[in-house]
Amino acid sequence: MNLLKIPCDCHLHTDNSFDSETPAALQVARARELGIPYIALTDHCDILEWSDANIARSNAQAMELNALYDDITVLRGIELGEPLQDMDETSRALGLCEYDFVLCSLHNIQGEEDFYYLHPDRSQAAELVRRYFEELLEMVKWNQFDSLAHLTYPLRYITERDGVPVDMTPYLPIIREILATLAANGKALEINTSGLRNPDGMLLPTGDYVELFRRLGGRYITLGSDAHTPEHLAVGMAEGIAAAKEAGFTAVTVFINRQPVEIPFA
Ligand SMILES: [Zn+2]
Ligand SMILES: [Zn+2]
Repeated sequence: MNLLKIPCDCHLHTDNSFDSETPAALQVARARELGIPYIALTDHCDILEWSDANIARSNAQAMELNALYDDITVLRGIELGEPLQDMDETSRALGLCEYDFVLCSLHNIQGEEDFYYLHPDRSQAAELVRRYFEELLEMVKWNQFDSLAHLTYPLRYITERDGVPVDMTPYLPIIREILATLAANGKALEINTSGLRNPDGMLLPTGDYVELFRRLGGRYITLGSDAHTPEHLAVGMAEGIAAAKEAGFTAVTVFINRQPVEIPFA
């Protein structure tokens, strides 16, 4: 029995993403089954290879599904990947539809493949992670989004999957700058729970960074399971909420028409 009241899941993929075969209606059905009042469809819009047809379809389906039910709000989102790597396409993507929620992410740094495909050794990893945070800082300064997705994404593969240790100490100053910029701009930090599907998995980012964001003046956090299938929807939310509370947050935020709406934790 599910005793935890899950307020939202604002990072979900459907068959409008290249890496999911799940119809949007099945994600919505699963969220309703779990009694989740807010979800956002955030299909991939990786700017170097996005499909305007898929993004428009995702947006239209969010509206259609939202209109069908009284017990759930289905928000029109995108996961905008690597926006700085083609600014013309980014403008086109942001102008294509009206969105409730723009979740911004960095899966591959300029000129490299997605971290998913990379298997660096220890010294290569240090260099790649440095470039990741540098590009992330530029993205956060660009500021045309609502929430920053899965901070520390490279660790999902480098450390968690491949077991290559990464000393995070050298990156602390730039991580502070990223979080302080987000906070000053009134943007949200996502707590991404997808790592918790794996036995040794972790939150992205871990609670210490969530707490640092809070201490640097951060007000908004969003929660996302990054589910590509219905069975992964909301997985890890209890841990995500616990980390947010422990960091001193009293509410989670959803974005409606690109405006933050805070939902106090029960
Ligand atoms: Zn992502
Ligand atoms: Zn995602």
